[in-house]
Parts: sequence; structure tokens; C-alpha cells
Amino acid sequence: MTVLSIRNLGVAVGDQQILNGVDLEISSGQVHAVMGPNGSGKSTLSNAIMGKPGYQITSGSLELDGQDLSSLPTWARAQAGLFLVMQYPTEVPGVSVRETLEFALKERGLEEVDVQSRLIEEAKQIGLQNELLDRALNVDLSGGEKKRNETAQLAVLGPQIAVLDELDSGLDIDALRACAERLEAMTEEGLGVLCITHYHRLLDYLPADRVHVLVNGQIVESGGPELARELEANGYSRFTDSDSESDGVSVAIGGRSEINRVLAAEPEDPFADPLA
Ligand code: ADP
Ligand code: MG
Repeated sequence: MTVLSIRNLGVAVGDQQILNGVDLEISSGQVHAVMGPNGSGKSTLSNAIMGKPGYQITSGSLELDGQDLSSLPTWARAQAGLFLVMQYPTEVPGVSVRETLEFALKERGLEEVDVQSRLIEEAKQIGLQNELLDRALNVDLSGGEKKRNETAQLAVLGPQIAVLDELDSGLDIDALRACAERLEAMTEEGLGVLCITHYHRLLDYLPADRVHVLVNGQIVESGGPELARELEANGYSRFTDSDSESDGVSVAIGGRSEINRVLAAEPEDPFADPLA
């Protein structure tokens, strides 16, 4: 049993504070979906989890099974069991997928794995052509091929926790289904998933245990799978709309529901006895 524990996480890039106290706990076998408007900090969350340089943790903690990750370089986090499918996978000319995975598995003490045959097996399941496996890592692949390539790598590496930053962007309908079903099968074997997505479709094949809404760097609501459907139908306006009827009440985060809470609160009695 593995637990990725994110507590009160604040993250800044340069002097810009982007995440403002995010709490999430992802255990083996669970799928947590994070949805939110563009620019709300979803990729920043995934970058901070993996330790991308330039993303400074300003508060809170990031732990894998109680081990502090925040001071570890990215490779050590990967070795500890994390894997990130990037929103825009990086091209690495001159290095093949097979070599990358062989090195990664060797560092985890798993050099006996036959990477080439495992890769071919995984590529087949998600409809990735074998000849693409001979190319340098992600070089000259289409957007969808990159995402399938990342999914095949994930399946061969077998991490404990996978962070998927918009795995669905770029994938056609059949590829999305094949990748999501492969991931779902991995969760049955204990993979924990943090799945960042804009659309419910991915979650049809990779059902979420919890859905979280990230707005302005904060989780403003969490719920079950029905929350993803509601968001897809209604968008984020109930979290982001500034309300013209709010008599100037300015609520930066929380939108309509926060405004209603503020307006419904007992007004302070200006004549109350301060010593009572
Ligand atoms: P999302 O993935 O939810 O669309 P991001 O996490 O990519 O949002 O971005 C959140 C905010 O942080 C945006 O305003 C973005 O411009 C800013 N940001 C993220 N990463 C960087 C960076 N490396 N340099 C400058 N600004 C950044
Ligand atoms: Mg993003």
C-alpha cells in the first residue's frame, strides 16, 4: 500500500504564487481526478509533485509513504515510484524509449525485465505501431502518439503512483479508450492515479473515486464521480463568476457558493456588549 500525501501545498514560480494550500491524498488503487479552468494550476501541481526545477514549495508538505519528496530531485522521485505523463511530452533526440526504460528499470534493480518484448506487448494493447518504438523518445510523434508512447512507458515501468496531466488531449476516441482501459487495469493491480482532465470521457473508462475542482490554486470542491458530469454540463461558472448582486462583496476564491455563505452568515451586531 502506497500513499501520496499532499498537505497544504503552496507553490510559486518566481514571485508568482500559483498553488495556495492544496490537500490531496492518493492511495494505491485509487483514482483521483482534478478538473479546473485553464490557468488554475493543474500542471503546476503535477510539476511540483515531480520536482520540476523552478517550482518552489512555499508551504505544506509532499510525502510518499511518509518520505519527504520536496527535497528530492526528479529522478529520485521517479525511483521512489512516481511517474508523470506530461501535458506536452518532451522530445529527447538521440535516446530511444527502450534505452530509457532499460536505464530506469536497472536503477530500480529490475534489470532482468525484457524491455523490448514488454514494450511491444504494451504498444499492441494501446494501438501504438511497433516502428514508432524505434524512434528517439517522443521525436517526430504526433500528439496522440506521444500520449500512447507515455502510457506504454508507464505500463512497462510499473510505478506506484501515476500523475496524468491531460492524457486525453491529443488522443482520438479509440486511443483514449485503449489507454484509459489499460490504466484502469493497472489500478486493479494497485496503481494510484492523479488524473488531470477537462472531460468526463476519460473517466468513463478510468472511473474516479474522487473528483476535485481546482480554481485559483485551491481545491474549492471535492465529490464523487457525479461532480465530473456536473462540471462538464455546467462549466466552472459557479466557482469563478464574480457576482453582480453581491453588493460589492469581493470573494476572490470560491465564487458564488462562497458569496452565498458570506451573505448567509449572521451579521455582526454593532450594538453588542463587547464584554458579554
Ligand atoms: P493549468 O494547467 O491549470 O492550465 P498551469 O499550472 O499551467 O495551469 O498554470 C497556472 C498559472 O501559473 C498560469 O497563470 C501560468 O501562466 C503560470 N505558470 C505556470 N508555470 C509557469 C512558469 N514556469 N513560468 C511562469 N508562469 C507559470
Ligand atoms: Mg495544464
